[in-house]
Formats: sequence, structure tokens, C-alpha cells
Amino acid sequence: MLLGILKETSPGETRVALLPESLKGLRAQGVEVLVEAGAGSHAGATDQAYIDAGAAVTPNRASILTEADLLPVVNALDASDQAAVKPGAVVVGFLRPLDTPLALYPAIDRGVTLFSMELVPRITRAQSMDALSSMATVAGYKAVVTAADRLPRMFPMLMTAAGTVPPARVFVIGAGVAGLQAIATARRLGAVVEAYDVRAAAGEQVRSLGAKFLDVDLGGINTEGGGGYAAELSEEALDRGRDLIVKTAAHSDVIVTTAQVPGRPAPRLIRREAIGAMRPGSVLVDLAAPAGGNCELTLPGQEQIIGGVTLLAPMNLPAEVPVDASHLYARNVLNFLGLILKNGSLSIDLADEVLAGACVAHERKPVNPRVAKLLDPVGSASA
Ligand code: NAD
Repeated sequence: MLLGILKETSPGETRVALLPESLKGLRAQGVEVLVEAGAGSHAGATDQAYIDAGAAVTPNRASILTEADLLPVVNALDASDQAAVKPGAVVVGFLRPLDTPLALYPAIDRGVTLFSMELVPRITRAQSMDALSSMATVAGYKAVVTAADRLPRMFPMLMTAAGTVPPARVFVIGAGVAGLQAIATARRLGAVVEAYDVRAAAGEQVRSLGAKFLDVDLGGINTEGGGGYAAELSEEALDRGRDLIVKTAAHSDVIVTTAQVPGRPAPRLIRREAIGAMRPGSVLVDLAAPAGGNCELTLPGQEQIIGGVTLLAPMNLPAEVPVDASHLYARNVLNFLGLILKNGSLSIDLADEVLAGACVAHERKPVNPRVAKLLDPVGSASA
């Protein structure tokens, strides 16, 4: 059984799927590990550290692709890499099967088994594999630190001989995993924090972090979509949130917005009017940029200055914290691999709800029903 660790090739990607410290249990099971030279260089893992942990290192990426039985990755392989993977091999990573399912077709067609970390069911048993939460935690932290860096003011209140510096005011929209970490980070830096979420359950968590929860009367509609996630709201309900956002934006120095509804474009909550209401020098970080953004002016991946307000729309903030992001991700992946490795050999039991939920395709057939629906043209073609 050969496990391959590749150097990620997506632009700006700095994370690595497994670290030297991840290898102990795998090596103890007799798993051979082959690492592409430089794979962990941004994440603080040298080639020598992998060798010391019992792996072999090679500059030959093609040999890893063609020989490995198991390939944990951060991002999906590109089409030419997929075409080289050994039929029957297993790839595990953030494969974006709901966003770009057809991009996975070359691997599916070769009979590669694909598991997507995004699809791991958010049930208690799989919490240690919840890489979405791990990465959202890193992104929430980094969003606030980045905003603090760009803001022409300080976060904490200071009382000095030269006078009092008031604390920065931070507004967090969407108090899920990323939002709660943004709140905690902003509070640690001394900011006064307000937050808004459509899920009433978020209120208590926001308050427990020392922030103020802004309630909006949505007329008693159901805002929970199941699994702890938000439901998609009507335009009328969204408008009530938008009104609150304009009002709160006017006195906020920083807005971090994270609102998302799984499988849907991010709700457009922040209108041009809200940006216009912010003071020049204020900063807005749109963490929903990969899903289109919460602000109607957001250009995913680009920085803009609009009327003196800095609008940031990062696409991959966890890659800006590669050491800790890789540590957390590697632990999530390793825990997932525990479900498909038995005594050093691959053993895939799709009766396991975690494996079935996370499985994009096995033996050329789509498995997760949402992915199967999206891949239907492929399924019919290969049937
Ligand atoms: P997410 O990234 O899908 O959404 C981020 C936040 O945006 C959510 O809190 C959501 O309520 C909010 N939102 C959506 N539409 C909005 C709107 N119109 N206005 C304002 N806010 C809006 O969600 P997430 O952060 O991945 O997870 C959300 C919740 O799911 C968590 O807080 C947690 O309770 C639950 N969760 C459970 C598990 C588990 O059981 N293993 C794991 C992770 C998360």
C-alpha cells in the first residue's frame, strides 16, 4: 500500500494534505509513503522531516501519481494529473464536487475512488473529520487580523496621557463557524463587536463571546435549513437584514461577512448603500467571496477601494496561515483515512454513512446522491 503526498499546484495554495507528524500511525500499519519534494515547504515541513518520519521523497510527481494507491490532497487534481492516477486508487480532499463536478470526470472515468472532505456529514461521529469547520476557523481568525492590519486605526481602547483612543467597532454578519472565530478574535484584540445571523440559536453563542447580537424580526419564518445550517430566505426576509446592515455599517470600522446557505450562491446582503454608509478607511472582508460574495460590489479574489472603503474578497484565506491550516486539515484527513484503512490496506465499506456521504464516485459510479444528480449526464454516458 503506497500513500502519496503531492505538492499542491493550485495558484496561491500553500497547505499540504499530511505532515510528517501524521505518518507515525500509517507507517506502524506498514503503509509506504512517497512525498513529492517540497510538498510541505510552506507548512513548515521539510523533505528531511518527512524522511525522518519514515517516508521517501522524490522530485518525480508522475511516479507518485501512477504508483500511489491512496492520495490525500488539499485541492482536486487537475485533468492531466487525474489522467495519470492509477485506476482503483483513492483520492481524498477538497474536491469541490458540488461546484465543479464535471472537472472530476477524468478520475471517475479511470475508476478512481473520490472522497470529498466537503461532503463528510456533519454528524457527531465525524466531527474530528470536519475540515470545513477547521478551515472556517482559520479563515475567521485571519479575516479579522487582515482587517486590523488594513484599518488605519487600532482595535483596543487605549487611555493614554495624550488622550483616549476609542475601540474599533467590528460587525460580523453570519455567526457560524467562521463568524464566531472572527468575533472571538476581534474581541481578543479589544474591539467592540456586534453580530447578526438569521439563526436564532446563534444569538447565545454570540453573546457568550462578549459581543452584541442584533435581532431582526423576520416575522416568525423558519430560518433553519437542517443540520445547523441556515435556510434560503425570501427577498422580503433578506431585505429586513439588509436594512439592519445599512444602519450598523454606518458606525462600523470593520465588517466581516460570512453568510452562506449550503449549495446556494451566498445571499447578497450588503448593498452599495451599506458601503456608502461606512466611513472612509473602513474595511469590509467578504469571506463568502468563493460563493459569489455577500456584498453586491464584491469581485471574488480582488481588492477594491470604494469611496475610501477597502473591500477585500479573499478566495483562500486558510492558505495564508499554512502551518496551522495544514495541521488541522492533516488531522481531519488522517481521521477520515482511519475509516478506509484496515491494517494498512484499503477497505471501503459504503454502508458506513460517513463514507457514503463523502464518496463522490466509486468504481466509475457516482455515490453521494447530490453529486450523482449533478453528474447525471456522465452517469448516463458511462452506463
Ligand atoms: P455556513 O458557512 O453555511 O454559514 C455561515 C453562517 O451564515 C451561518 O451561521 C448561517 O446561519 C449564516 N447565514 C446564512 N444566511 C444568512 C443571512 N441571510 N443573514 C445572516 N446570516 C446568514 O455555516 P457553518 O458556519 O459551516 O455552520 C453553521 C452552523 O452549523 C454552526 O454554527 C453549527 O451550529 C453547525 N455545525 C454543526 C456541525 C456538527 O454538528 N458537526 C459542524 C459544523 C457546523
